[in-house]
Amino acid sequence: MQGTCECGMTLERPSSRTGCALCGTIGCRSCSIEVEATHYCRWCATSLAHGQPA
Ligand SMILES: [Zn+2]
Ligand SMILES: [Zn+2]
Repeated sequence: MQGTCECGMTLERPSSRTGCALCGTIGCRSCSIEVEATHYCRWCATSLAHGQPA
């Protein structure tokens, strides 16, 4: 475990962070987005916003 977000930000405590519900990526505070009480990485959140299945 590197403990580094994909954006390059060092994660303070990666084990305590909630991973993305879709891909499981652990993101930093800036990259973790909460959508309807579910956390996603900002990349998956963007995909959701642009491609809602129904
Ligand atoms: Zn994700
Ligand atoms: Zn990040």
